[in-house]
Amino acid sequence: MRFRRAQSRRSAERYSALKGIQDILPPDIYIWQRVEETAREIFSAYGFQELRAPIIEATEIFIRSIGETTDIVEKEMYTFSDKAGRSITLRPEGTAPVVRCYVENHLYNLPSPQKFFYSGPMFRYERPQAGRFRQFFQIGVEAFGTSDPKLDAEIFSMLRLFIERLGLKGLNFEVNSIGCEKCRPDYRKALLNFFSGRINGLCPDCKRRYEYNPLRILDCKVDVCIELRKGAPRVMDFLCNECREHFNALLSLLKLLNVPYVINPDMVRGLDYYTRTTFEVTSEQLGAQNAVAAGGRYDRLVEEFGGPPTPAIGFAIGMERLVALLRTPTLNQVQGELRTPAPEIFIATIGAPAEKEGLVIANRLREKGIWVEVGYAGNSLKSQLRRADRLSAGYVLIIGDDEISSGKLKWKRLSDGSQGEILFQEVYDFFFKNLRLIQS
Ligand SMILES: [Zn+2]
Ligand SMILES: [Zn+2]
Repeated sequence: MRFRRAQSRRSAERYSALKGIQDILPPDIYIWQRVEETAREIFSAYGFQELRAPIIEATEIFIRSIGETTDIVEKEMYTFSDKAGRSITLRPEGTAPVVRCYVENHLYNLPSPQKFFYSGPMFRYERPQAGRFRQFFQIGVEAFGTSDPKLDAEIFSMLRLFIERLGLKGLNFEVNSIGCEKCRPDYRKALLNFFSGRINGLCPDCKRRYEYNPLRILDCKVDVCIELRKGAPRVMDFLCNECREHFNALLSLLKLLNVPYVINPDMVRGLDYYTRTTFEVTSEQLGAQNAVAAGGRYDRLVEEFGGPPTPAIGFAIGMERLVALLRTPTLNQVQGELRTPAPEIFIATIGAPAEKEGLVIANRLREKGIWVEVGYAGNSLKSQLRRADRLSAGYVLIIGDDEISSGKLKWKRLSDGSQGEILFQEVYDFFFKNLRLIQS
């Protein structure tokens, strides 16, 4: 007896999700689904096809692409050894796996440009705070095979359309160019020069960045570093002719497509693989973690992964932040459309024969794609009606012994209380007509 009690106590132990990792439940899930559906629809119109890369990859793939001295690689990766002792990492971002996939499957042999989108969870071991999770979701796109700024502009206008279609207002489109392997060394030198006299005041991270990647000092969120970088040389002044032309061509195409933008010369992005165009979509409503979407060109990355020289560009959208914005009623023009779906019909029954008849009718309606709920476990009519009400069902059907013998059942529309009777065999026609009227 004692043993059994101990066991049952153990089985009643409470578990919680890991720190920084959240469950996504109804009704929130309907916002998520709407975002995903909108992305799929709009990205497809621009010729992006879905690609599903794995969630785990060899650790080397991320070190190589994101950069050894970035925050992500240094501090934030979920890395572990598998049973054979290989170093495996849960993807902290989506671009490196897609590039690995592109090269491994020789997708560069297909006509250029090749355009892909993906969506799914990413993982970073960060201090959990508002807008940051250890498992977070991104929808991203990657396009390979042309350096034409027209592609950059198309991707921009696609992103703008996506944001607009979701009904979000007041977002800033920030754009910059961070140069290429030809012009960046000069800029790097100028930055080293600028920070050489200030190095002692920089935060510990930036002291190291000074050695490995001084551009990243411009990205630091620590107050002293923000102060010390005032007046730092700007990458725009160091662009080579090709990079400058590329950037100017992009800006004029953005004007042509009516995409509003601001040039943010301080935006360098935290990852090593970016070249030329970088961009962010930000919202003032989000506080410190204000980027909703971010991306840029990475013209050298395919080559570094062993593929032929292949210019490329992509971006990723942070789902949690986007959903947070859509949840904010003041911002959100489409709040009304985002109501939780409800069953169209609830079938309440009294007695065993009616319960069987109700189940058959429910099945017939469900085969036509109509959402039908039924009562369970011999609940009283009253408690069934209460449940129908709580679910905000459109119609309630009531079947009891009388209805079985007359071959007619009662219907009631909960929104206005109207009611009537119909023959069992007319149920489908009746609701198909009514529900179609409601939906259109
Ligand atoms: Zn350049
Ligand atoms: Zn710093």
